[in-house]
Amino acid sequence: MTQRAPARGSITPFGYRRITCKDRKQRFEHVIVWETHHGPIPEGMELHHRNGDKLDNRLENLMLVTRLEHKRIHSGCIRVGSRWLKRCRRCQWYRPVDTEFYEYKGRNGVMGACRRCLSDLAVIAKRNRKLRAKQNSSN
Ligand SMILES: [Zn+2]
Ligand SMILES: [Zn+2]
Repeated sequence: MTQRAPARGSITPFGYRRITCKDRKQRFEHVIVWETHHGPIPEGMELHHRNGDKLDNRLENLMLVTRLEHKRIHSGCIRVGSRWLKRCRRCQWYRPVDTEFYEYKGRNGVMGACRRCLSDLAVIAKRNRKLRAKQNSSN
């Protein structure tokens, strides 16, 4: 049987449900659900809620991913075979995220625009700055 876990515990500021266990330790409900079926989460791995609902802690809604994969999923990347693609918000093309996008070192982030577009934008910004400087000096 697959049922939504009964509502209990408290919700953290990040939107996860945390419950107090018998040993009085507070643990995330999704972690408990996963570990009950699959054992401890390996170092460097994280759980992702497939449907985006962090309170939907049914086992089938949980997915074990690496930190990098997790970051990519939340940055709007899609997996095609062994590659991760992301749609550039400027040129609208799907490009490989590892070679065509800048990824932040931090937890959440891949740039919204591809490298090519970013360098285009940099050129345009530079041109605009020059133009503005010219206008200012002629005023
Ligand atoms: Zn996630
Ligand atoms: Zn682009």
